[in-house]
Amino acid sequence: MRELWRLWRLFRPYREWILFGFLAALITLLANVTLMAVSGWFIASMAVAGAAGMSMNYFTPAAMIRASAMARTGGRYVERLVTHEATFRLLSSLRVWFYGHLEPLAPARLQQFHSGDLLSRIRSDIDALDNLYIRILVPLLVACASLALFFGFLLLYDTALALAGLSFLLAAGVLVPLWTQHRGAEPGSRMVETDSELRAAAVDGIQGLPELLVYNAADAHAERLHRLSQELTADQDRMSRYTGISQGAVGLSANLALWTLLWLGIPLVQSGRILPPDLAMLALFTLASFEAVAPLPRAFQQLGATITAARRLFAIVDTRPAVDEPRELSPQPSRLDLELRAVRFTYPGGTRPALDRIDLSLPQGKRLAVVGATGSGKSTLLNLLLKFWQPDAGEILLGGYGLGAFRGEDLRRRIAVVSQHTHLFNAAIRENLLLASPEASAGALEQACEIAQIHDFVSALPDGYDTWVGETGVRLSGGQARRIAIARALLKDTPILLLDEPTEGLDAPTERALMAALDRLMEGRTVLLITHRPVGLERMDEILVLDRGRILEQGDHHSLFGSEYYPRLLGLAGQ
Ligand code: ADP
Ligand code: MG
Repeated sequence: MRELWRLWRLFRPYREWILFGFLAALITLLANVTLMAVSGWFIASMAVAGAAGMSMNYFTPAAMIRASAMARTGGRYVERLVTHEATFRLLSSLRVWFYGHLEPLAPARLQQFHSGDLLSRIRSDIDALDNLYIRILVPLLVACASLALFFGFLLLYDTALALAGLSFLLAAGVLVPLWTQHRGAEPGSRMVETDSELRAAAVDGIQGLPELLVYNAADAHAERLHRLSQELTADQDRMSRYTGISQGAVGLSANLALWTLLWLGIPLVQSGRILPPDLAMLALFTLASFEAVAPLPRAFQQLGATITAARRLFAIVDTRPAVDEPRELSPQPSRLDLELRAVRFTYPGGTRPALDRIDLSLPQGKRLAVVGATGSGKSTLLNLLLKFWQPDAGEILLGGYGLGAFRGEDLRRRIAVVSQHTHLFNAAIRENLLLASPEASAGALEQACEIAQIHDFVSALPDGYDTWVGETGVRLSGGQARRIAIARALLKDTPILLLDEPTEGLDAPTERALMAALDRLMEGRTVLLITHRPVGLERMDEILVLDRGRILEQGDHHSLFGSEYYPRLLGLAGQ
């Protein structure tokens, strides 16, 4: 229930819309009930007048019928317009709200969520929330208001009639919804989870299809999808059954109310307490009034699903980002020296620090290489410098200011990165490059690609720079994708360049050519190069040797040559 209150707070800016939608729905309903009641009265009056051979004024009731028919049609139109417009506005603002909370969680906190699951949350879970507004809130308000009006109207004729009508309306509008809510809560909320699981499994299966085929696991995966989809269908089936039963119950209540009313009303007519045409009017009025409660059972049946969807969204929204963003503006240091002091960092759930007691200084314009075995903490260092994570102890300074003082975007504006796992978007090569610098000219793109040793390859493709790279760049080899990522980083033209194993996956001649080209580019920039390859290390100002999160050795290429670990690590021993 706490979720409902939080949702309501999100809906608050749309109060006017809700009120407007409520009024339009109420007018439509009242017009419809009036139409039925007046028609009943009119037909009965005409019959009575005809039988008695009298004439009557039929202009007023005919005009009322016409007016309420028009009000009903117009009201329905306005109601649909208003509630849909409000829902669309609400949904789009909810998506922006959700995305606003999602973004600061990337990449550190999002690693615990499956991308298919996130897709479900941002799409169907948010969609499920409109249920609260369009199917619950507005109909509930309409039902409360109209039930009071109906009861008051019946009271004008007879108390027993009014009480009987109200009892049946309450049975259909309260008991039946309570039953559907009770029955629908579990399958409804399970459907939200199963649907998300199914989506995640389908995404996984498609992305990993080659692996599934290689390991003959495709059948098992298909089996899993089949099972999930059967679970989903079984719950859908259950829900449909409840819908059917509840609709039947509302219809039954309406008809029982009609008969009860006639049963109670006929003696009243006989005793002259009410006129015969009024009985026909009251009977049709009662029947029509059930339209006020008809949407409620279905709405409450979906309540469990809505609450589950809300809970899933709030789980993301309430996740604290791994790094705090400052409230003030970022500092504007004149120099961009990087410094780490006694930095320690452990990943959540990690048994030992990924980095420990790291001291290093990288003055502006200098080049630092970090070498180390796999898992020694090299990429972690990069994650800390990019403020994707923050250290548990010690501090990182940029131009004398703690990294915490910079907003993530201001910090990253100064840094270009080629990370170890680059992502290419399912778009043309050109668009992937322009991501770094949307204004870059075709000449600038080509120049960056030349440095990255990929221009010749790209221009030889039939579509050149307009070649589509496929999902996550699958239509390129690892080495080609990497070089495109390097060109992209170069296009960003920033004072600081971070390269995480840029030559991985390249053959020796390409690696040498790339490092030579990068050398020109590093001119005047602050560079942090992570590598486990010996190429180009002689051009670095300083080299740090990392081992299991600690700095093991430190110096330049020549001084380290005589050390214990460095030559062995790079396979240079004995040369
Ligand atoms: P390197 O880049 O030197 O190969 P990493 O910095 O990637 O090493 O990893 C250092 C250690 O931290 C490894 O033990 C690795 O398992 C762990 N690690 C890396 N990334 C994560 C992560 N996102 N969550 C938890 N542990 C991680
Ligand atoms: Mg790494």
